[in-house]
Formats: sequence, C-alpha cells, structure tokens
Amino acid sequence: MTRIYFLLGGNIGNREEILSEAIKKMTKQLGKFVQTSALYETEPWGFTHEQNFLNQVVVFDSELSPLDILDKTQIIEKELGRVRKTTQYCERTIDIDILFYGDECIENQRLSIPHPRIQERSFALYPLEELIPEFIHPKLKKSIQLLKDECSDKLKVNKFR
Ligand code: ADP
Ligand code: MG
Repeated sequence: MTRIYFLLGGNIGNREEILSEAIKKMTKQLGKFVQTSALYETEPWGFTHEQNFLNQVVVFDSELSPLDILDKTQIIEKELGRVRKTTQYCERTIDIDILFYGDECIENQRLSIPHPRIQERSFALYPLEELIPEFIHPKLKKSIQLLKDECSDKLKVNKFR
C-alpha cells in the first residue's frame, strides 16, 4: 500500500460537483479513500478567466503503480471533460495531478513525482499544509510548512468551504 496525494483543480462548470464526482470515481478505481483537505479558491495562475479555480488535495492508499494511477486519473479527467462538453464549450474541467507517491522520486517520460511545481504554487501548498505540515518533500528535503513559508507565489488562496 502506498499513500498518494493528489491535487484536484477546476474552474469551469459546477466546480464543486465536478470535484466530488472525480473523488467518487477515484474511490471506485484507485483503492482506499483516506481524506481530503478543505476546498480552496484561487485566482487563475498566469492568466485571467471569469471563474476562479477550486483546488483540493485528496489522499488515497493504493496498491497500483504510479503509471496505473496516471492512466486511471487521465481517463477520469476525460470522462468528466466529456460530460461538460455536451452543455458548454470548455477545454478542461478538471485537472488531477499526482503530488506525492509515498516518498518515492520518479522521473520518466510520462511522470515526474513529486510533482515538479509543488514548491512554486501556493494553491498546492495551502491544502498540503492543512493535512501534512511536517511531511518532508522527498526530493527537496524540506517540510511542507517550510516550502510554504519560502514560496514567493503571492496569488490569493482562500479557504472556500
Ligand atoms: P498540467 O497538469 O501541467 O497543467 P496536464 O494535466 O495536461 O498539464 O498534464 C500534462 C502531462 O503531465 C500528462 O500527460 C502527464 O503525463 C504529465 N505528468 C508528469 N508528471 C505528472 C504528475 N506528477 N501528475 C500528473 N501528470 C503528470
Ligand atoms: Mg495535470
């Protein structure tokens, strides 16, 4: 069993419903649901859009390999994208990123774990700090709390619910 931390994010459609739909699908396919962070609302990173993002960290324990996890979460992204496309144009309704896979460091064509931009993004660091402030980033060898304190990303991240 490996503990896996995911970051979910979306800014299109009924954001909360899409996030909870993603968690339902992940629970059916990945293994044992452990917990979620609160929902955080964030201004879009690097561009403007009429709707802010909702982000949430979700935790599962799984027997699946990192690539199997990626395959399954990419299918879920597609399924949820398709649902929305019938009612409105959108390029992406949900993004599922693998932040940590236990304390493993993985680099291949399809995967970088830990996710390479955790330390640059307050919308990843806020929910992670809520759940695992003392967790040591396996590559950077710093705690989540320290990474958040050092992060220069000044985009507003507000607890949403
Ligand atoms: P982004 O998340 O960077 O906005 P995408 O969701 O479209 O963009 O992902 C692009 C590619 O990133 C995926 O096809 C996947 O192979 C790769 N990738 C590399 N590392 C990870 C990771 N830790 N979690 C999710 N995808 C990853
Ligand atoms: Mg992604």
